[in-house]
Amino acid sequence: MSSRKPLIAGNWKMHGTIAETEERIAQMLPRIATSEHVDHAICVPFTALQAAVDSARGSLLNVYAQNMHEGENGAFTGEISAGMLTEIDVQGVLLGHSERRSLFGETDKALKLKVPAALNAGLQVILCVGETEDERENGDTERRLRHQVQEGLEKVPAERLGELVIAYEPVWAIGTGRVATPEQAQDALAFVRALVADRDKAAAEQVRVLYGGSMKPDNAAELLALPDCDGGLIGGASLDVDQIIAIVDACTR
Ligand code: PEP
Repeated sequence: MSSRKPLIAGNWKMHGTIAETEERIAQMLPRIATSEHVDHAICVPFTALQAAVDSARGSLLNVYAQNMHEGENGAFTGEISAGMLTEIDVQGVLLGHSERRSLFGETDKALKLKVPAALNAGLQVILCVGETEDERENGDTERRLRHQVQEGLEKVPAERLGELVIAYEPVWAIGTGRVATPEQAQDALAFVRALVADRDKAAAEQVRVLYGGSMKPDNAAELLALPDCDGGLIGGASLDVDQIIAIVDACTR
């Protein structure tokens, strides 16, 4: 059995005033207080990060940003650096989410710099990868994943690869209610791990690979039990405290 600790990460996307963030965290904390077998994270909008960090301080809940710039500072209007996140005690960052890629022009070239910049600043990283529906139908899933993983990891030294979390999120399953079959998910999760093994075999045993894409309480147990699934990245269901707790409870590894 794997010694990798599962991670359940909620992606709140562009949802949540400061008051709503504080309220949702207050509801979550007592309900995850004894779930030490799982790592817990929420990825919240920039404006709510400080409030989220303060609300979650001393608890099992880690607070992540949803994006960052690779530079330390400079003429990059509208951007936030890794140092700005760690200054307010943010613990991690989500990078390369498919909505950032498809709606805001996030590229593998930029991610190649963002991933090591985040790690060097002491942030946990969740790097998102995944194929579109067309790519899957055209038999291009592995080619797409290979490109995203190899570029994203290219500048990460082998001895740090094991610290990463990679979320396999088929784009066609995000926010659609369509979920990958267990076979599709396991094949892709194992393929992502094998790509890490191409760089470093020991790191591939440590790296956590998550499934994301319409994970809900009714399908979570089956997905989380897959041999190469080390947790979930959850969008819609993470905004509902009952649902995210049900997913945490489905995580029995
Ligand atoms: C996501 O935003 O990463 C995600 C998986 O969303 P959802 O769970 O809503 O499909």
